[in-house]
Amino acid sequence: MEKIRVLAWSERTEPDSVYPKGINGAIADGLRSHDDFEVSTSSLKDVDQGLGDDRLDASDVLIWWGHNKHDLVSNERAESIARRVRAGSLGLIVVHSAILSKPFKALMGTSCGIAGWREDDEPEHVHVVMPNHPIAKGIHDFTIPRTEMYSEPFDVPAPDVLVLESRYEGGEYFRSGCCWLVGNGRVFSFSPGHETLPIMMQDEVKTVLSNAVRWVANLAAE
Ligand code: ZN
Repeated sequence: MEKIRVLAWSERTEPDSVYPKGINGAIADGLRSHDDFEVSTSSLKDVDQGLGDDRLDASDVLIWWGHNKHDLVSNERAESIARRVRAGSLGLIVVHSAILSKPFKALMGTSCGIAGWREDDEPEHVHVVMPNHPIAKGIHDFTIPRTEMYSEPFDVPAPDVLVLESRYEGGEYFRSGCCWLVGNGRVFSFSPGHETLPIMMQDEVKTVLSNAVRWVANLAAE
């Protein structure tokens, strides 16, 4: 079986105390338990910002985490990613604040802004809207014990499929797992993933991300 080549990228502003290998490193560790993935990591500090054409050409899926340094990613690298996604040669997964990253904004064509957020470490209740979707395989409604609240409206085109939605203690709602078909490519956004909380180590989150890798790679058994 041909492996799905995954590149997990981060700007690396997450605290070492929570993510010693970065959020991308934690995501990569979760994915490496699956035989069908070949996983590597890179960051903003690497050559070509960790996003050189050679690396992108050697990847089927790019997973992106960023927060403070979106503007430091070169427009040229962002466009190179968006072009590959549209052409169907690279699937993109954006995690948490990466919804404001340049490649995702380019692919959505909107601001991708949200109405509000609250860092109070309260629970997030994730509801599986589409249980039969490949990204929901093995997933039932679950709770992230401590999260950062995101609230709607989320300024994106209507997702082609809404797989997951979240509710918070203050009554807020957010579309937390969204799928888009963009050109010949696939994009998934997953909103949990605040950098001061160990959300990427949670089993359900790891399952969502591994399912999402297969879906955006367009090799998932539908
Ligand atoms: Zn956050």
